[in-house]
Amino acid sequence: MTVFSTQISCADSTWNPTVGCTKVSPGCDRCYAEAIARRFFGGFDLTLHPERLTQVKRFKPIERDGRLYPRLVFVNSMSDLWHRGITDAFLDRVFEAIASRPDAIFQILTKRPDRMLAYGLARWGGSGVPANVWLGVSVEDNRVRGRIDALRRLKAAVGEFTAYVNCEPLIGPVNRLDLTGIDWVLIGGESGSGARPVQADWVRQAIAGARGTGAPVWFKQWGRWQHNPLWSIAEGRTVRERRADLIDRGLERMPREHGGATLDGAVIQQFPASYYAAADRLAKAAA
Ligand code: SF4
Repeated sequence: MTVFSTQISCADSTWNPTVGCTKVSPGCDRCYAEAIARRFFGGFDLTLHPERLTQVKRFKPIERDGRLYPRLVFVNSMSDLWHRGITDAFLDRVFEAIASRPDAIFQILTKRPDRMLAYGLARWGGSGVPANVWLGVSVEDNRVRGRIDALRRLKAAVGEFTAYVNCEPLIGPVNRLDLTGIDWVLIGGESGSGARPVQADWVRQAIAGARGTGAPVWFKQWGRWQHNPLWSIAEGRTVRERRADLIDRGLERMPREHGGATLDGAVIQQFPASYYAAADRLAKAAA
């Protein structure tokens, strides 16, 4: 499988040194990775791909608005890097590959924060988490808010790093999240057929929580056009016509996202400060 371009709006590329997973919480119920793997590869068993470790060579910086930025690489869009079936020895090789590419940023998202914490304490206890590793946890609703604690515990033990929370697929209220110490909050509705509808109030709760601690926010998508709150005022007979109506009237300003990504007339796409700091380092190195 090649890597590379991605439809994920807050990443530039994907990289899958492992593929396959097992479900851990309701956020996994309609796992898109499983659907893709079953359809195209005949199964979703966890498989390690050591031959893909050298693919990091291709993750060169990219230009955005006339400035060079580190490529944002979403690690394991088709798996969970902290799955218990992935050995520490293989994780070591993954992080050696990541270390060879300090001019890229690797986003590692999990629903298994305990393994992340245990491995992180052992690997980064003396040195700290590298600046090009961003660690995140998925929080699909209040029920799994405890996952965020692992990020804070790791920070307390090894020092600052970019920690993020991904409220996606947002399937319930998130008004009880403690986002203290979190550097970035992502939000997104579930996409695909049978997607569970996101409620605008849940999105607003996540944003309010982030604003309360000063964390930047990236609202990715509503997931399906029918779940976009603007849908009720869209005019037309078909989905295509109604979608076009919202775009033509300028009400939905992010037509390429799944279901659009405009909330209360605004598009919210903010990066954490560490992204700009990494771009500064790139510019300094090139000078
Ligand atoms: S943890 Fe992620 S990749 Fe694994 S089953 Fe759940 S949603 Fe799918």
